[in-house]
Amino acid sequence: MNTVRLSTRLATVASFVETGAVVADIGSDHAYLPCFLIHNGTVQKAIAGEVVKGPYDSAVRNVRREGLSSAVTVRLANGLFAIEESDAVDTVTIAGMGGPLIANILESGKDRLQGVKRIIAQPNIYAKAIREWAVANDWTIRDEAILKEDGKIYEIIVLERGAAIYNELELLVGPILLQNKSAVFLEKWERELTEWRRVLGSLEQAEQTDAIKERKQELLTHIDFVGKVLAI
Ligand code: SAM
Repeated sequence: MNTVRLSTRLATVASFVETGAVVADIGSDHAYLPCFLIHNGTVQKAIAGEVVKGPYDSAVRNVRREGLSSAVTVRLANGLFAIEESDAVDTVTIAGMGGPLIANILESGKDRLQGVKRIIAQPNIYAKAIREWAVANDWTIRDEAILKEDGKIYEIIVLERGAAIYNELELLVGPILLQNKSAVFLEKWERELTEWRRVLGSLEQAEQTDAIKERKQELLTHIDFVGKVLAI
């Protein structure tokens, strides 16, 4: 992967960035995504935010090597605190982290989202945390994608402003992904069902404390929901 050829995962995130947007890529590591967006002409200006010094340094090096220092500003900052008002950022991308961490980054920096119209999130696990954050903060799910690369399955969630209500199943599997029920979607939830049944089996062997009983009930609810989706 480099700034001209991205992984399918990041290229799919990039495909949801609108032409002419001003993007802040949070957790930018090598700054591959912002550089790619500039190279292919989708955006003219981007911010790459990174909280860890090593990845920040490699983002700075990459941007310099590509001759993009005037177009991509790299900042060492925690989450959305990489965004400054004068940047006029209207699109945020956050990819390659767990859903709860992404939701936490959105929640703790939400004052920085004032001018932002679109958030494109790619959680590696537990996308539900992002959908729950969206509902609680008046963002609506405008689009979703699911893809498989190198044996791993990734979800992408595109949020825009507006209140929305989703039921528990939609929060878990994604309202748009649920409508489309692609082959990758079905494979993901087959895998999850197998894993949940395995965990449930081992919880049956454990001492039945209140916490274990609660976890079992949660798993049974998820198994019931998703089992119905797969049976259709
Ligand atoms: N976004 C790239 C991608 O999808 O390939 C890099 C993903 S990498 C696994 C996650 C990056 O997010 C790491 O470089 C990590 O240091 C950074 N990160 C984690 N928490 C962060 C935070 N609160 N603010 C900014 N960056 C963060």
